[in-house]
Amino acid sequence: MKCKICGAELRKDGDICNKCYEKLVKEEELENDKKALYELKMKYVPRF
Ligand SMILES: [Zn+2]
Repeated sequence: MKCKICGAELRKDGDICNKCYEKLVKEEELENDKKALYELKMKYVPRF
């Protein structure tokens, strides 16, 4: 398998490599409402 985006050889089965996946996720985050994202992060980040 090769990455659809950068063409890198993939060890696992999949369409894209981890590097491109992370990039894609970040881009999706930017598209989302930042306030909603912030609230989501607050949910998962434990408070000390
Ligand atoms: Zn890639």
